[in-house]
Amino acid sequence: MRKILYFIGLGTIILSCAPQKNVKTSSYRPKATTVQPKTVTKTPTSEKAKPQVTNDRGVEFFTTNIADAAKNDNTISYGSIVSAKPAGYKVVKTYFPAIAQNFRQRYLILHYTALPDDKSITVLTQQAVSAHYLVNNTGDNEIYQLVDENKRSYHAGVSSWRTDKNLNDTSIGIEIVNSGYTADSIGKRIFVPFSDAQIKKVAALAKDIITRYQIPATNVLAHSDIAPTRKQDPGPLFPWKRLYDEYQIGMWYDQETKQSYHDLAMMDFAAKYNESSFIFNVQTQLQKFGYGVELSGKWDDATKKTIEAFQYHFRPQNYDGIMDAETWAILQALLQKYPVK
Ligand SMILES: [Zn+2]
Repeated sequence: MRKILYFIGLGTIILSCAPQKNVKTSSYRPKATTVQPKTVTKTPTSEKAKPQVTNDRGVEFFTTNIADAAKNDNTISYGSIVSAKPAGYKVVKTYFPAIAQNFRQRYLILHYTALPDDKSITVLTQQAVSAHYLVNNTGDNEIYQLVDENKRSYHAGVSSWRTDKNLNDTSIGIEIVNSGYTADSIGKRIFVPFSDAQIKKVAALAKDIITRYQIPATNVLAHSDIAPTRKQDPGPLFPWKRLYDEYQIGMWYDQETKQSYHDLAMMDFAAKYNESSFIFNVQTQLQKFGYGVELSGKWDDATKKTIEAFQYHFRPQNYDGIMDAETWAILQALLQKYPVK
């Protein structure tokens, strides 16, 4: 039985690649030293205490932040320190840690497995796909960790958001057990709801990850957002608005802003709908928001799927892949609220 399960795939091709990422340069500058009379005794605050590396059964840990996180200087760590052990030499922590560093974990990507519990575990642990965490649908209080947060898991595949590509390199992936969708008689995808227990688990897990790595709202995304032509998960029944309202997780638009853009769009939307300049503008705005869509000036299949992915996330009541006035207004409201820096 177990052997049979090994061969049940997710139907996904995951490409593993690890391009070199640009290292953010630090804006840290040493503070100018204040000249003080020699008779003045130094207070404990006049010298920054060097945080200690702790040692537990031979494994070193460093969990203190001495840098200014607001400047993207961050020296905190949530795992053990991995060090080289070169033969004949000693690696020392005399000058550890350097200020100029940040987390590799910059995105949180959510998925559904399209498989039941047992098969989800088998596929994600025994085959060529994985995720850092798996949220089951058994109603217990367990969340399965499958991959170390410091390592890449193979969940995103060919993917992009804004200027970033191959998001396995920079993301934490959460898979949620859910059977996905079935197609009805006219080919419309009918999705399966998530249980309330699962959503609460996902929210608690996501909140913890986002807080520790300071992942911005713009980088909390669906698999369908970063691979819109290939993926639908976690689909339109994943409650992004609830996560935003109840847990302050991810992005959501302001209703009033959306309404004003909607009123504006209604004035001439139908007239210009098939003009290539308008289609080009739609593609440009989708691309500006983050989607990896080509600027073809045509309502092509990739553009339709990208609009569908946007609707799964932000207008789940109707995910027909057509850029209507409401979808357009939501996109404008989001661009205003989350401008590209
Ligand atoms: Zn996925």
